[in-house]
Amino acid sequence: MRDPERELDNLPRRADAPGGEAVDRSLVLDWLRHVSTAMNRHQDHLTELDSAIGDGDHGANMARGFAAVRAALDDPSHPPTSVGEALVTAGNSLISVVGGASGPLYGGAFRSLGKALGTAPQVDARRFAAGLTAALATMQQLGAAVPGDKTMVDAYSPAVSAFRDAADAGADFPTSARAAARAAEDGMRATIPLQARKGRASYLGLRSIGHQDPGATSTCYVFHALAEAAGAAAIPVQ
Ligand code: ADP
Ligand code: MG
Repeated sequence: MRDPERELDNLPRRADAPGGEAVDRSLVLDWLRHVSTAMNRHQDHLTELDSAIGDGDHGANMARGFAAVRAALDDPSHPPTSVGEALVTAGNSLISVVGGASGPLYGGAFRSLGKALGTAPQVDARRFAAGLTAALATMQQLGAAVPGDKTMVDAYSPAVSAFRDAADAGADFPTSARAAARAAEDGMRATIPLQARKGRASYLGLRSIGHQDPGATSTCYVFHALAEAAGAAAIPVQ
């Protein structure tokens, strides 16, 4: 078991880590491109996971959804002018393109993150942490899932906590993003022994036990992509 408090002690403090603190529009665009690449690369894996405890469309939903995000953000007639606008555009694309449960949940979360970050050209790690907290709140309001229900919340919630704890302790953006990616990965794996209480997998009752949740897995890719875009590549993940 990792000792999170120990790890926080080892994180670089602001004074040790000049630069790399601010999140700007180009980092966010990079993040969303990395997410799209990851969803394509892992599409078959997400399909397999969702075939075991759902209807097998999560890989296609994520690949199609983030391809639409990419197309919207690359549209030369509407270049996003701020971090917040880019994220709201991403959320709107996911809501309009992804039919499954994951579309509104991810779309709502990205929209809330974008709204929380507003029109600032750059934001620091603490402000980004506040945005992620708002994104998680929206995801939970929409889906009514709590940690332990075997959903994307099981990866998203620990990722947000880890990001916020690191940022509050003075870590820079890349370090906070790496902490979030690791926590998301731990949360993803921790869904395996759980019985699903929300979403399609809940219809299986006890038979949902022993399978990794597809949405928690895609959330893990989302936070790994954030760490990658920030230049703090986290551990490779399947
Ligand atoms: P659908 O279940 O409609 O086919 P997807 O397959 O794209 O949609 O997404 C499935 C994932 O959505 C699940 O693995 C789970 O993580 C997530 N999910 C489903 N319902 C909820 C909910 N109420 N709250 C949070 N996440 C949910
Ligand atoms: Mg599905």
